[in-house]
Amino acid sequence: MLVGGERVGAAAGEWADVTTPSRRGQVVARVPRGRAEDVDRAVRAARAAFPAWRAQHFTVRQRALGRIADAVEEHQEELARLTALDTGNALRTQARPEAAFLAALFRYFAGVAGEVKGTVLPAGDDQLQYTRLEPLGVVGGVLPWNSPLMIAGFKVPAALAAGNTVVLKAAEDAPLTILRLAELCAEHLPPGVLNVVTGTGEEAGAPLVAHPGVDKVSFTGSTEVGKRVAVSAAERLAHVSLELGGKNPSIVFPSGVDDQLVDGLLLSARFSRQGQSCTAGSRVFLHEDVHDEVLGRLVERLRTWTVGDPLDEATDMGAIINEQQFSSVCGYLDAGREEGLTAVLGGSAPAEGPLTEGYYLTPTVLTAPGNDFRLMREEVFGPVVVVVPWRDVDDVVRMANDTHYGLAAYVWSHDLDEALTTAHRLEAGWVQVNQGGGQVAGQSYGGYKQSGLGREVSLEGMLAGFTQTKQVNVRLRS
Ligand code: NAD
Repeated sequence: MLVGGERVGAAAGEWADVTTPSRRGQVVARVPRGRAEDVDRAVRAARAAFPAWRAQHFTVRQRALGRIADAVEEHQEELARLTALDTGNALRTQARPEAAFLAALFRYFAGVAGEVKGTVLPAGDDQLQYTRLEPLGVVGGVLPWNSPLMIAGFKVPAALAAGNTVVLKAAEDAPLTILRLAELCAEHLPPGVLNVVTGTGEEAGAPLVAHPGVDKVSFTGSTEVGKRVAVSAAERLAHVSLELGGKNPSIVFPSGVDDQLVDGLLLSARFSRQGQSCTAGSRVFLHEDVHDEVLGRLVERLRTWTVGDPLDEATDMGAIINEQQFSSVCGYLDAGREEGLTAVLGGSAPAEGPLTEGYYLTPTVLTAPGNDFRLMREEVFGPVVVVVPWRDVDDVVRMANDTHYGLAAYVWSHDLDEALTTAHRLEAGWVQVNQGGGQVAGQSYGGYKQSGLGREVSLEGMLAGFTQTKQVNVRLRS
């Protein structure tokens, strides 16, 4: 772990195995099993580093973040390979783009560090009334396993640019990339400005969220755990932001059918991450005029996908993170069958062959007549999409919004009025039109409803999430 600029083990001397998803149960590393006293050491280190870090001229923080961006770029291939090993995400389709995005996030927040600034009121010649945007203090960041580097990139550079110090808790299933990132960052930051602890949610995550020395909790993970995190932070009214789950709709109009639609739908469904993404467009609503054609093309394209070793350049889709998640997705496939959904592609786990050596699932496409099925309501977090036909735009918008989640949505239409009026009616914090990827450093990112609280990735997110406002009113002698 990284605490106060030092690489340390857990205080109790305990270690935890890290396994790779591509080989069932194969241990590839051991990491410290951090507990409350390790979290406490890390928070103390972050508190100790805070006064000097916040007092720096913003250009000093800017330079440090820029150097980290350079270091991430220099080590991009290493970080990408480690991501593939750690998460099971395919190197070519997911891990490399993610490592590149991480560098862009550091560079973006280096660039906007000078925007942490206040305003002056026109209060008369004998008054100076102004606001200062001040850092919150110590930020406790809790990460999930699905895209650890990217999500660290949503939190760390934004918090540091605004003058906070950070303690990160890596996910127990994917801590390796975060530990390597911590080493790279430590070369360019004063000791204690960034600290990383490893450990389970109960043993390390909960003590971090509950720690009185943590001023802000920035959590990304499931809605279920997010609610517990919010309650814990509320005990001392700590600031909290939550990036949680999603059950995201994709609405295809006849005018949206073009040569790029199918690849866009695959990207939006996040098959490159085995569907293990909060923004996965897993409910695909196809207009009935194009339903059969688009469904056919989708299945045809997915049949060409290569599932296998995440480190293999030929692989499009890697492995599910662990046994528990694998069983959970298989359970949803069973539920789909029991509820009478039709599997047009896939529908069950491979029973034999090399794919059974890891937690591999092949892509599944199911069809359903409407929204009232478990697979249309619950976050499966696997390579599964359910396709539903629609005819009336009011109906499809109602079905799309009929969920307690509200993270992302996708609209496919080249009729500007149709596309944008639909986008505006969707209850989601991020709507994409005619594209499935498209996330950029600087865009506003966050969920509606039970998909989250607060925004990230953007200048807006940095100011709202990592600063507090002080008003100063001064009487001047004339
Ligand atoms: P999770 O909620 O199980 O765990 C997330 C993190 O919280 C892990 O580090 C875990 O150790 C920790 N944790 C668990 N219990 C805790 C507790 N009581 N107190 C503090 N920390 C605790 O989620 P996961 O399985 O790692 O990730 C998948 C989930 O994350 C999905 O629901 C997905 O949609 C969501 N997610 C959301 C976003 C987003 O930006 N909205 C991005 C990625 C993933």
